[in-house]
Amino acid sequence: MVSSRVNEINESATVSMSNRAAELKAAGKTIYNFGIGEPDFTTPEEIIEYAFQSAKDGKTHYTPSAGIIELRQKIAEKMKRKNNIQAEASNVLVTPTKFSLNLALYSIMDPGDEVLLPSPYYVSYPDIIKLNGGKTVTVPTDEDYEMDFDSMRKFVSPKTKVFMFNNPVNPTGKVYSEKSLRKLSDFILENDLYLLSDEIYEDLVYKGKMFSPGSIEEMREKTITLSGFSKSYAMTGWRIGYMVADQSIIKAANKVQQQTLTCAPSVSQYAALKALDDENSVETMKAEFMKRRDLTVSLLSEIDGLSLYEPEGAFYAFPGYSSNKNDVELAMDLLDKQNVIVTPGSPFGAWKHFRISYAASEDTIREGISRIDKYFKSIQ
Ligand code: PMP
Repeated sequence: MVSSRVNEINESATVSMSNRAAELKAAGKTIYNFGIGEPDFTTPEEIIEYAFQSAKDGKTHYTPSAGIIELRQKIAEKMKRKNNIQAEASNVLVTPTKFSLNLALYSIMDPGDEVLLPSPYYVSYPDIIKLNGGKTVTVPTDEDYEMDFDSMRKFVSPKTKVFMFNNPVNPTGKVYSEKSLRKLSDFILENDLYLLSDEIYEDLVYKGKMFSPGSIEEMREKTITLSGFSKSYAMTGWRIGYMVADQSIIKAANKVQQQTLTCAPSVSQYAALKALDDENSVETMKAEFMKRRDLTVSLLSEIDGLSLYEPEGAFYAFPGYSSNKNDVELAMDLLDKQNVIVTPGSPFGAWKHFRISYAASEDTIREGISRIDKYFKSIQ
């Protein structure tokens, strides 16, 4: 018997779809996959070479639990240079990004504390909050995914401890402006909350400008900024990222890291060290994603019955639709009838929507979206 705690956690929303897709593939069908939330590129060659050479040179042991000092220093420099956040190595903990979400919440929350989550949200957040003993309080956003802080006040209770979000946003592609983020920061300070700012897509901004709330002086002790190497450098499999926060939080998170993961994988830490020197690859991949975004937006805009917020960052589009079908049925139907994988919107807190990851080849985007068009024509 598994624990009731784990029983309350959901499996990934896409498991049954992936199973069905595997069956169709085994039956010889070509599948047009817009489900995967990761770059389709391989990690840049020089990063792989450097990590392999480090391993050959014997860097195959435990590292200090917070990460190798050269990497913590380099991340601190990057935070100053790119994010305008005043950080030193002592403000940095190296750990896989998804794990850092857990470490951050575990370090600042007591059981029963509440976390404000603007919706649509990253699919894993509610379960990560639950795993760490917290309670999710979702707050709506408007049709442009902007937050209304006057109405948000009614969701604050004496138990509210954290506001958690990601920017650029998975699943909508929204990029919040500095103005909106300054309003958010005022709200955090007024209500004495912590801000968990997940900036893992920070390098993939096509329109507008990335702004980190941790750069606001008054927010420095109140913000935990998370980022990583998965999306910027096509390094999902290396499992490497980091959190940046006040030293007291880093110390607490490091204690939890010592008793769970011990340290991030050593070879991946050396890969990350090299990645931080490699701005060119980020720019090349970003330019490619931007082309795909433009193509995706132009093709989706031609489909009757869809509405689309034009994504400004990350690699997702999140169309809404008007048919009566629920989103899980719709996604299953698209797979069964058109061999297209999309992710239903409800696990992100948005019904009558589906998510398309355009981190796919141009051919897949063209053929896959023409099949989505055929499907919507067939149900009208
Ligand atoms: N935050 C967001 C918003 C994400 O989309 C993801 C990955 N899909 C993560 C965190 C986790 O990143 P990683 O796989 O590098 O741990």
